Amino acid sequence: MTELIKLTAAEAAAKLAAGEITSVELTQAHLDHIAATDGAQGLNAFLHVNAEEALAEAAAVDADRAAGKELPALAGVPIAIKDLIVTKGQPTTAASKMLEGWMSPYDGTVTQKVRAARMPILGKTNLDEFAMGSSNEHSAFGPVRNPWDLQRVPGGSGGGSAAAVSAFQAPLALGTDTGGSIRQPAALTGSVGVKPTYGSVSRSGVIAMASSLDQVGPCARTVLDTALLHEVIAGHDPLDSTSLNEPVPAFAQAAREGAQEGSLKGLRVGVIKELGGGSGKGFQHGVIARFMDSLELLQAAGAEIVEVSLPSVQHAISAYYMIMSSEVSSNLARYDGVRYGLRVVPEDGPVTIERVMAATRAAGFGNEVKRRIILGTYALSAGNFEAYYGAALKVRTLIQRDYAAAFEKVDVLVSPTSPTTAFKLGEKTKGDPTAMYLGDIATVPTNLAGVPSISLPAGVAEEDGMPVGIQFTAPAREDARLYRVAAGLEKLLTDKWGAPFYTRIPDVTETIRDFDFGGTK
Ligand code: GLN
Repeated sequence: MTELIKLTAAEAAAKLAAGEITSVELTQAHLDHIAATDGAQGLNAFLHVNAEEALAEAAAVDADRAAGKELPALAGVPIAIKDLIVTKGQPTTAASKMLEGWMSPYDGTVTQKVRAARMPILGKTNLDEFAMGSSNEHSAFGPVRNPWDLQRVPGGSGGGSAAAVSAFQAPLALGTDTGGSIRQPAALTGSVGVKPTYGSVSRSGVIAMASSLDQVGPCARTVLDTALLHEVIAGHDPLDSTSLNEPVPAFAQAAREGAQEGSLKGLRVGVIKELGGGSGKGFQHGVIARFMDSLELLQAAGAEIVEVSLPSVQHAISAYYMIMSSEVSSNLARYDGVRYGLRVVPEDGPVTIERVMAATRAAGFGNEVKRRIILGTYALSAGNFEAYYGAALKVRTLIQRDYAAAFEKVDVLVSPTSPTTAFKLGEKTKGDPTAMYLGDIATVPTNLAGVPSISLPAGVAEEDGMPVGIQFTAPAREDARLYRVAAGLEKLLTDKWGAPFYTRIPDVTETIRDFDFGGTK
C-alpha cells in the first residue's frame, strides 16, 4: 500500500493544490490498490472499474492546475459511485441481472456534479440488488466482503461504497440511503456515512427504490471528508420534484468548527430510549459499551445528556417495510423487457407482451426483489390498501411527530447505528428474511421522518474486534449541525485513541492473500 491511498480527501486536496502530488499519481495509486484487492477473489466492492476515463480526467485536472486555472476544492480527488446512480459511458446495473450491461444515455445530477467538481470517477460499487438488503448478499454479482474480516458482511445495501472507502480503494464514495444503506455499512466497516435531509440532494438519475425515502449521500473515512463531498452533491435540482430550493450550507466549515475545543459545550443530546438507551435491550454488548464511552466523552466535553422517548419507533420496521415495498412494487414495474436491459422471450408458446414481461421479470429479478414486489403489490391492492399501506402512513406521521417533539427538547438525537457489529456471510440469509430486516431498527426511522443522520466509528466491540457505529440525527435542514457535532465527537475519540480510527483498519492486501475464498462462498 502506498502512502497516497492513506490520505484523507481533505489532505489529498491540500497536497494537490500545493503541487506536492498529482492527480494522476493519486488516481493510479487507488486503481493499483483496487486491482490488488478487488474482484471475486477479493473484496468485490466494484462492479466496474473505470481506469482509463479516471486517469484521463486526472491528467486533465493536472494540466489545468499547471496552467494556473482555478479549480474546485476536490479537483483531482478520485471517487467511487454506487451502481444505483446512472453514469454515462459506464454500465449501471443496480447489481441486478435485469440491468446487466445496460448503459445509461445520460448522467444523474449527482454524477454531473461530481464531474463538474473535476473528481476522477474510479468506478461503480457493488450493492444489494436495487438497494434492497442490509448485507450486500443480495447482489446478483456476488457479495462484498468486510475489510475487517473477510468472512463477514460489510452491511448493505451500500456495502461496496463502504468497503471501498474503508479498504483505502477510494477516499470518497457516493451511496444512497432509503432505510440505512449509507449509515449501516459505514457502521459495519468503521467508516463515516451521511443520509442528508430528504430533498436536499437530487434523486434525478438515481434508480428509484422507494422515492419518498431515497436520498443520496457521502461515504468517507472522516467526518470532514463527508462534509466536503456533501457540498459537492447538494443543491436544488428542477429535475427532482421533491428537491428543496435552498442554498447549500457550509458543511465543511461546520465540521472544522466542530473539531475546535469547546464546540460541544451546552449541546443538548437526546439518547433515544427505544434505540439503545435505557436498558440497551436488543443491542449487542460491545455496541452498547462503545456507545456509552462516547456519551461519557460528550458529557465530559460539556454536552448535556438527556434521555428522550420516541414511542412510535417500535413500529418503524413494520411501517418502513410496508411503505418501502409498496413504492418498490410501483417503481420496479418499469422493468418489463421492453424498455430497459434484459428481455427474455419464452421459447415455446405465443409471444405476447404479458408472457415476455413475466419471463423477463422471473429471470431478471432475484428472490429478495421479488419478495418485496409481491409484498408491496399485496399491500396496495384495493382490498388491503387501507389496512396495510394506509396504516403504515399513519405510523409514519406519528414517527415524524415523535421527532418533532424530541427536537423541542434537544439539539441532536443519538443512538448506536446498528444493534450489532458485522455478521458472518450466510448467517442471515437462510430462513426467515425478517431476521435481517430487524437489524434496520435504528436507521429506518430517520428516513420515515425525512431528517438527516450521520454514522461515525465509536471504536470496536471487544467480543469480536469489529467496528461499532454511533449515529447522530438532527432536525430537517440542520445537516450542518450534524457535521459540527460529529466532528466534535470524532476529535474527542481521536484524542483518546491517540490516532484517527481509520489508522486501525486492517491492510486487506495481506488478509486476501491468505484467505480461502472457496470456503465461504
Ligand atoms: N436495509 C434496508 C432495506 O433492506 C435499507 C435499504 C436502503 O437503504 N437502500 O430496505
